[in-house]
Amino acid sequence: MINVTRSSMPELEEYIKEIAPIWNTHWLTNMGPKHQELQAELIKYLGVQQLDLFTNGHMAIELSLQALNLPKGSEVITTPFTFASTTHAIVRNGLEPVFCDIDPVTFTIDASKIESLITEKTSAILPVHVYGNVCDVETIEAIAKKHRLKVLYDAAHAFGVRYKGKGIGCFGDVSCFSFHATKVFNTIEGGAACFDSEDFGLDLYRLKNFGIRGPETVDAVGANAKMNEFCAAMGLCNLRHIDEELAKRKAVAERYRQHLGGIPGLQLNPIQPDVQQNYAYFPIVVHEDIFGATRDEVFEALAQQNFGARKYFYPLTSSFDCFKGHFDSNGTPIALCVSKKVLTLPLYAELTFEIVDSVCRIILQLCR
Ligand SMILES: *Cc1c(COP(=O)(O)O)cnc(C)c1O
Repeated sequence: MINVTRSSMPELEEYIKEIAPIWNTHWLTNMGPKHQELQAELIKYLGVQQLDLFTNGHMAIELSLQALNLPKGSEVITTPFTFASTTHAIVRNGLEPVFCDIDPVTFTIDASKIESLITEKTSAILPVHVYGNVCDVETIEAIAKKHRLKVLYDAAHAFGVRYKGKGIGCFGDVSCFSFHATKVFNTIEGGAACFDSEDFGLDLYRLKNFGIRGPETVDAVGANAKMNEFCAAMGLCNLRHIDEELAKRKAVAERYRQHLGGIPGLQLNPIQPDVQQNYAYFPIVVHEDIFGATRDEVFEALAQQNFGARKYFYPLTSSFDCFKGHFDSNGTPIALCVSKKVLTLPLYAELTFEIVDSVCRIILQLCR
C-alpha cells in the first residue's frame, strides 16, 4: 500500500545522538535545552522575529487566538476549505466563524469577498495558506488595517514557503505552523506560532503553561501545550535535512506535472509568482464534465491498485456533523464545488518516480 504521505525521519543513529544528553540532564519537558535550541534554529530558518513552540499546530492556533484577546462571541472571518483544526480553534475560543468563499485557483480565502462579510461584531480574519499556496496577504493586510481587525494565518501547510523573499511566518499578527508527522517538517507532533510583538509572546508563553506567570502567580486560564524534549530533538534532526527534503519533494511534484499538466479537465495547483513553494501536497481538481471521470472514480481506481489518495479537504468544515444546522455551505459555492472535486495524490520525499508514473497511468486511463 502506498499512502498519501510518509513521515520523514532522520537516521536512527542521528536521533540517538540528539537525545543522549537528555539522560544526563533528566530534563524531559518544560522548555529544556532542546526546546530552546529548536526555537532558535527555527527563528533563523523561517526568518521570523519571534517564535514559540507547542505540542501541536492546533494548540498553537487555539492559544494564539486566545492570546489575541478578542471579544467573546465576536466574529472571525475564515475559510471552510481547511482542516478541522482551523474552525475548531475559533469555536473552542467562544468565537463565531463566518465563512468566506475561496479563490478557485489558489484555494485560499477570496480576499475580494472579505469586506462584504465584515459587521460590527467582526474582530479577526483567520485565513489558511492551503497546500502552501500563499493567501493574498497584501489585500488582507489592507482590509485588517482599515477595519482594525487582527489577522491569524493558519500556515500549517506552509513550512519553508517564502513570499517576495520573506518567510511566510512574517505575515499577520501571528502565523501558526504544524509540525505533525504528516507535514513537510515534523517533530512527531508539534507546532509553532510566529509573531513580532513581545507582549503577545509573553501572553502566549503563559497560556501554553496553564496561565502560570510566576512561581506564585497564575493570571490566565491557560492549557498545557508545551513541546517536550524528544519532539524538539526530532525537530533538530529533521531540520538538518530540510533542504534536501524539499528538493526531493520538488522533483516528485515536477514528475507529476510532466504527466498531468495540460490534461483537459485536470486542474493542478497554481505556480504563484514571487512564491518559493514547499511542495507539501499535490492536489488535482477533477472537472468530470471535461475529464470524463469523477473525483470519486479516480479515488476508487487508485485505491483498487493500493494507492492511497486523500479527499483533502472534504467535507468542508462548515458541513461537519458537529455544526449541523449552524452554517450553510451553499454560501461558499466555490469551496463546496472544489471540496467535491479535489484529490491529493501521494507525495513525500522518498516517493519513487516509478510510483508516480503508476499513479498517473491509472488516472490517465480514466481520461476521456
Ligand atoms: C495539520 C493542520 C492543522 C493542525 O495541526 P496539528 O499539528 O495536527 O495539530 C491545522 N490546520 C491545517 C490546515 C492543518 O493541515
